[in-house]
Amino acid sequence: MREMRETRGFVLGPYNPSPTTGLVDVPPRRRLTVWNALWLIAEGAWTILVGHWVTLRNFWRKKVTDQYPHRQARRNWLPGPGYRGDFALITDWKTWELRCIACLQCQNVCPSGCIHITPEGRGRERHPVEFYIDAGLCQYCWLCVEVCPASAITMTPDYETAVDTPRKLIRDIDYLRTRGLEFDDVQRPLEAQQTAEAEHEDKGE
Ligand code: SF4
Ligand code: SF4
Repeated sequence: MREMRETRGFVLGPYNPSPTTGLVDVPPRRRLTVWNALWLIAEGAWTILVGHWVTLRNFWRKKVTDQYPHRQARRNWLPGPGYRGDFALITDWKTWELRCIACLQCQNVCPSGCIHITPEGRGRERHPVEFYIDAGLCQYCWLCVEVCPASAITMTPDYETAVDTPRKLIRDIDYLRTRGLEFDDVQRPLEAQQTAEAEHEDKGE
């Protein structure tokens, strides 16, 4: 039979045996006295009061209910940097083709298995003919973006992705290309500015 010994103070279970002695420490029984009972009641009452104080404090504050999506209080609001929103495939400005080279790395790395690509062609001609992402399965881990060798896939700041059926969360290649072009319109001035600054530094001006 396992030997038991008492410890000082209260211990929250489970009561595992000590790895060195093999003994099980059990908490001492708390004797219910009048003072103990009063103290427990006071503790409980204080907890309730603190909880209600938070509710009361906010009860008198100005209401900021947003009738989304019919009326948005903060129009053109965008989430902060690093937000992972809807997917997009980036188009190459020079060839006007998708940057994607259908290497399947994003499909293979995806832990949710929500990317499906059908590649076509070999070598430099290789490209995707089908590219599906099931945003309903996605856990927005960013791995597909990180692993892409062509910087062809990204996640935009677009957070308005609510739909009425899960099927509508499956993004196809046309959707992703269009989102990429919209996203690029936002990013392009920033990239052009950074390129100009880099060239300026290279010239040592
Ligand atoms: S963000 Fe993660 S879960 Fe979503 S498609 Fe990319 S790799 Fe898969
Ligand atoms: S999006 Fe990037 S990682 Fe995915 S198949 Fe295309 S090139 Fe490869």
